[in-house]
Amino acid sequence: MRIFLFAALAATLAAQQSAKKRPSPEAGDDKRGYTDTPQIPGQTWKVHDAARPRPPKIAPGLPLPSAQPPADAIQLFNGKDLSQWVNVMRGGTAQEPKWRVENGYIEIAPRTGRLVTKEKFGNCQVHVEWMVPVGSDGAGQGRGNSGIELMGRYEIQVLESFENVTYADGQAGSIYGQWPPRVNVSRPQGEWNSYDIVFEAPRFEAEKLTKPAYVTVVHNGVMVHHRQEILGAAIHRRVATYKAHEPEEPLSLQDHGRPVRFRNIWIRRLKPYDGQ
Ligand code: MG
Repeated sequence: MRIFLFAALAATLAAQQSAKKRPSPEAGDDKRGYTDTPQIPGQTWKVHDAARPRPPKIAPGLPLPSAQPPADAIQLFNGKDLSQWVNVMRGGTAQEPKWRVENGYIEIAPRTGRLVTKEKFGNCQVHVEWMVPVGSDGAGQGRGNSGIELMGRYEIQVLESFENVTYADGQAGSIYGQWPPRVNVSRPQGEWNSYDIVFEAPRFEAEKLTKPAYVTVVHNGVMVHHRQEILGAAIHRRVATYKAHEPEEPLSLQDHGRPVRFRNIWIRRLKPYDGQ
């Protein structure tokens, strides 16, 4: 009897440990879409519309070698340390980064807060490589969810979308809650994906938006958005809207409670181009 109790206790503790290691997805993450959300302005679809067609799936070309940053890029992660970043908890408290650095990549330490650059950026070109680790579970928004948050709020979704199905405007490469990628060019768990992003920051005069943000996204060498207008800050189940902010804001990587990996992150500031 005593042995049985001990075994049961050990099993419970092991289950708790494993639950700690692999936090369960947020409630509702496994939904494949919604029918009760508002219409997206200018589109025929609702936010996270369950009926919105998923983009066609295509195989990317052969994996490219991890890109060497160009000479004028700011290397945000060089495979070694998080000196360019802080973790910011919900509520805004900043702390030393808790995300793990190992084998040349960063891995999200779930629920320690988003990883935020110390530097701020406006118009920029960003390169980032990301991987959903083998064995990642959960469904829909629960499997491998993170995101590249331009100016901390305009999200290019990171998700396991090779096998895993979710609403079209929330899969990998989407402008979250707004625009699905034109094709699904995702690689499976355990393989590196790349994003090359060109971002034009929005402009405000006082509280008023005078120019929206635009984004071009290349996923695994394939264009999935071309100077697409961003409708506002990423938000779940609601229509995105703009709220005035600084001309430059930090870039962040989202903590959605899942252990996604990142490597080779660099950014270039883009100046207005006059042909010179
Ligand atoms: Mg996300």
